[in-house]
Amino acid sequence: MTSAAYDDNNIFAKILRGEIPSHRVYEDDQTVVFMDVMPQAPGHVLVVPKAASRNILDADPASLSHTITVVQKVANAVKEAFDADGVFIAQFNEPSAGQTVFHLHFHVIPRHEGVALKPHSGKMEDGAVLAANADKIRAELA
Ligand code: 5GP
Repeated sequence: MTSAAYDDNNIFAKILRGEIPSHRVYEDDQTVVFMDVMPQAPGHVLVVPKAASRNILDADPASLSHTITVVQKVANAVKEAFDADGVFIAQFNEPSAGQTVFHLHFHVIPRHEGVALKPHSGKMEDGAVLAANADKIRAELA
């Protein structure tokens, strides 16, 4: 079974191009990191390579290598910013695996002992809450 082609009208491509807003916490030449609008826990961010790929299956290895270093940097930052016990990192490939947005991204989610995650793609968070959480993460990354 082959996958569909990359479609640059996906929502993350539009965010990368600045066509729709996001709460950005980090950017470098190859990646952008922004708050997930339907967080599974406070501080849930998405690490998104700028290079176009649908998911990990068609990603450029050099871009992927850099992206994972950003995942590590951001994982440490959200752990500190939210005084978390651990960090959950997730990445889905194709609808059968739970992927809903078809531009490669890594979920980075702070976890606290005994606190369950909210559902994936659940409820939209208040913009002011996302902005405040983004500030906390930016402060750790500074
Ligand atoms: P996945 O493709 O891995 O299943 O998840 C896509 C993620 O993108 C979900 O966690 C969802 O909450 C998030 N998401 C969907 N639309 C938007 C959006 O417009 N902006 C942001 N920041 N996140 C989004």
